[in-house]
Amino acid sequence: MDLLNINIKSSLKYQVMFSFGAVMHISFLLLFFYSRVYPLAVINIFSVIIYFIGALSSEKGNFERHCYGWIITSYTEITVHAVCCTVFLGCDEGFFMYSMMALPVATYTLFLSCREKFGFTIVIMAVTTAVTMSGSIFFVNRYGSVLETFMGRDIPQRSTEIMRSVNIFFNTGLIFFFSMLFVMEIHTLFRKLNDTNDRLAFTATHDALTGLYNRHSLRKFFDELENGNELFCIVMGDIDDFKKINDTYGHDCGDIVLKTVADIVMKNMGEKDIACRWGGEEFLIIMRGSREECFDRISLVKAQINALDIVHGNSRVHVTMTFGFADSDEKSQTEHSTHESIDAMISTVDKRLYKGKTSGKNVIVV
Ligand code: GH3
Ligand code: MG
Ligand code: MG
Repeated sequence: MDLLNINIKSSLKYQVMFSFGAVMHISFLLLFFYSRVYPLAVINIFSVIIYFIGALSSEKGNFERHCYGWIITSYTEITVHAVCCTVFLGCDEGFFMYSMMALPVATYTLFLSCREKFGFTIVIMAVTTAVTMSGSIFFVNRYGSVLETFMGRDIPQRSTEIMRSVNIFFNTGLIFFFSMLFVMEIHTLFRKLNDTNDRLAFTATHDALTGLYNRHSLRKFFDELENGNELFCIVMGDIDDFKKINDTYGHDCGDIVLKTVADIVMKNMGEKDIACRWGGEEFLIIMRGSREECFDRISLVKAQINALDIVHGNSRVHVTMTFGFADSDEKSQTEHSTHESIDAMISTVDKRLYKGKTSGKNVIVV
């Protein structure tokens, strides 16, 4: 089971916390009855009622709005309870631990639901815990516990041991539970951050309309090509008379044509090939493979574009495309292997594309 990826709704978290609080106080209630410390048992009846109401109301949709009040109420209850138990019984039972444990709980819940009040509230709580706990421990050390000094009775050793063990058990559980919640929260934030980064990286390197790479993202692919010794071809394609398509059928139809052509190009690309929207209706395609393989593939792209039948309103839009084609073998015969050589290849395919445009369009010029 992957604990980190469990996604728990905050209403459920509050329900679990309040229910856990109620269960703890029911345990104290039983322990105090067993040890015949009835004033603390009565205090615990109120605590159980508070957590019971909290668990019931945290189910409601608008609970988040009342969250701050509930956090303050719970923290006050924990602190008052810890002070009363310490002053009444002494330190040996370890009830003062809950007041300290309330701080990470409050930190988490304030951060989860009331971030705007987080800073000053948590500082006040930390100071309150430090003052009330050191104060009640000082009181007990100086004057003895209320039970012993004013009621002339001591807690049996066995009860002290049971309460201490129960308190250590509960506090360990709370530390574990809240540490896990913190980590899960951080993990979720990291995951969201990574997703956002991935999305941003995609947006920065891809064209929004066609989903192809944009022109700026190609440099790193050029570096890869120059450092490798695989055969490749570069093709520049330009949709013929695209302005006329825009003028006749509208810009939206032009966008559909661009997207459809881009889909055809993408569908015919291999895993290591790169298709880029170079500019308006121009596409730059880099294919790995021999001249013959690449030429066959670009011929297939051209044929599929020619066969396109884009229905727009009552019209059918016919699309053709002209291509300039160059392969890396002719580059190595004429150029040395640097950035300029790729740029020179691009310039070559651009010239060939222009030649295709001036000699009737809808051709691949090699
Ligand atoms: P040729 O056959 O010589 O390539 O002619 P052409 O009309 O295709 O070329 P021209 O450069 O004259 O026109 C390109 C048009 O592409 C002009 C511009 O408004 C349009 N265009 C550029 N980007 C987009 C876009 O994202 N969407 C749409 N719909 N049109 C675009
Ligand atoms: Mg064009
Ligand atoms: Mg153009």
